[in-house]
Amino acid sequence: MNDTATTADPRSNGPAARHNAHGHPCPPWCVTDHSEQRHGPSAGYHGSESPLIHTPSGYVNATAYQNGFSDDEPQIAVTCLNGPAGCLMTAVRDAGFLAATVEDLAEATPEQHREFAAAIRQAAAVITGAEDPEAWAFR
Ligand SMILES: [Zn+2]
Repeated sequence: MNDTATTADPRSNGPAARHNAHGHPCPPWCVTDHSEQRHGPSAGYHGSESPLIHTPSGYVNATAYQNGFSDDEPQIAVTCLNGPAGCLMTAVRDAGFLAATVEDLAEATPEQHREFAAAIRQAAAVITGAEDPEAWAFR
C-alpha cells in the first residue's frame, strides 16, 4: 500500500481515503501503488491484486480495473503475456460468461483451442470485410 496517496479526513477517525495522483478516489479493491504512477497513458489506474497463471508460453491474468480519471464502470482486464500488448477489457456483466467459456475450454484439445481462435478472427473478418482473417492474428 502507498501511504503517500492518502488524504487525511479530519472528520473521521477511520483510515484515510486512498486516491491516485490525480485525486481520483480508489475503489475498496484497489491495491495499486499510486506513488509509482506519474506518467503515461495508464497513469493513475486502479487495479486489484490477482495471481499470474503461468502457462507453457507465458502467463495469463485477470484483474479488476478502473481507469482512474472518470466515473466509468470498473472492468475485468484480461492479459496474456504471449499475446498483443495491452489487454482485453470486459464488462463485469460478461465476467461469468467469459469464465464459463474458459472453463469449457479446459477439456478442449490444443487444436480445438486453435480452431476457436480462428473462429474469433473469422468473426472479426466478417464484420470488417477483411479478406484474410489472419489479419487479426497477433504474432
Ligand atoms: Zn487506486
